[in-house]
Amino acid sequence: MFSPEFPDEVAKLCYDNFTKLPSKGKPQKNKEWTLLAAILMSTEYPKQSLKIVSLTTGTKCLGYSQLSDKGDIIFDSHAEILARRGLIKFLMYQMHEVLHKNDSEVLCYNEKEKKFNLKCGISFHLFVSHIPCGDAAIFLKNSETTMPPCLEEQIQSDSGESLPKKIKLDVTEVNDLNSIEVNSSSSCASIDIYRTGAKCVQGELQDPKGPGQNFHVTGVLRTKPGRGDPTWSMSCSDKIALWNICGIQGALLSCLLTKPIYLSSLIFGKCPFDTKAVQRAVIERLSDVTSLPSGYYLNKPTIHQSSLVFDYSKEILMKENSSIVPCPASIIWLNNPKLLEVSVNGKKQGVTKKNFNKPFSRISICKSILFEDFLEICTLLSEKSTGILIDAKDNLAYLEYKQMAKSYQDAKLAFWKVFDKWKRKPSHLQKFTLSCTKKVIN
Ligand SMILES: [Zn+2]
Repeated sequence: MFSPEFPDEVAKLCYDNFTKLPSKGKPQKNKEWTLLAAILMSTEYPKQSLKIVSLTTGTKCLGYSQLSDKGDIIFDSHAEILARRGLIKFLMYQMHEVLHKNDSEVLCYNEKEKKFNLKCGISFHLFVSHIPCGDAAIFLKNSETTMPPCLEEQIQSDSGESLPKKIKLDVTEVNDLNSIEVNSSSSCASIDIYRTGAKCVQGELQDPKGPGQNFHVTGVLRTKPGRGDPTWSMSCSDKIALWNICGIQGALLSCLLTKPIYLSSLIFGKCPFDTKAVQRAVIERLSDVTSLPSGYYLNKPTIHQSSLVFDYSKEILMKENSSIVPCPASIIWLNNPKLLEVSVNGKKQGVTKKNFNKPFSRISICKSILFEDFLEICTLLSEKSTGILIDAKDNLAYLEYKQMAKSYQDAKLAFWKVFDKWKRKPSHLQKFTLSCTKKVIN
């Protein structure tokens, strides 16, 4: 299905698009690094095409004390999470196009089910310039190259008991927001291991933090790294795994779509990478998830790596300046609707304290704005035909609408049955209503 050029084609498209953007929100030259992510859409009909839906950058995640119960702040600004929010905005925009103009290249309205269908031949792909944080980032350096036989044996042992006895670790913490590079040496050769700053959630097996490959456990749930105030957001590896069961459309859109939407492929930029680690993190460890509702299944996207490196990647910039830091800003660019915003700490960059709670301080892909977009579609739908199940009511909370997506919630429960230590955010953070967001507006 995918040509050998596909990964480079995707990466080039994303890098070129990023280069064309204005400098606001981009990392400072030689001082800051960032991650770039994008959701791309490919079509088969009427002709084959590939285009970017959303393109985002970001490395930050808020600590628990900074979270808001009004849906007005983006908690998790890792690039891949923002790109997926951008896709949700894009799909809502397409629903609008169907209802207003009866014209969308992506969706059509299914009169019988009173929901939207993805058009035939349309697929979505996730590009990330770097391996995602969490489980997929844990692997042996040079694991795909030939190693001395004495080490190969030891590495193949999962227990780690056969590690070289005298192992000297030289741990360099590149940045605790992402992976940590570890150089270890032994009498017979060197084992270099990539690690993640993401921490095992409570109740899971914990990292033994021993030497070499004994530092981490693999396959467990982790929360995003952060200094001080701990984050409640799961690592990107865990979230991508969830998307492979529940789809990328989220709960609200599940109310309006006939089927979940899954990613067809994952493409990574040139970076330290191990296909097996990605497979373990986002596919293989899901094999115990069973009893999924109709339409849901364990999605197995193809995994690719491009040979093209992102100019602002940590690895490239570290060579010039070892004290580079992650860029605090995020860029959010959408193709349809046309949108370009820059966020810091989950709100628009530059917003003053006085204006912090004003509606214009919000980023267009935050929960409360996506909720408003969703209710607008529900209203348009109820004008279009009778018997619509979703009524747009001011007094119903965001969480209550999410719970209306019965099959989606059942799929999530099946996932949580296996991953029962998933750190769920307290429900009060999702109990805001439209009238509450309107109150913020006025
Ligand atoms: Zn991440």
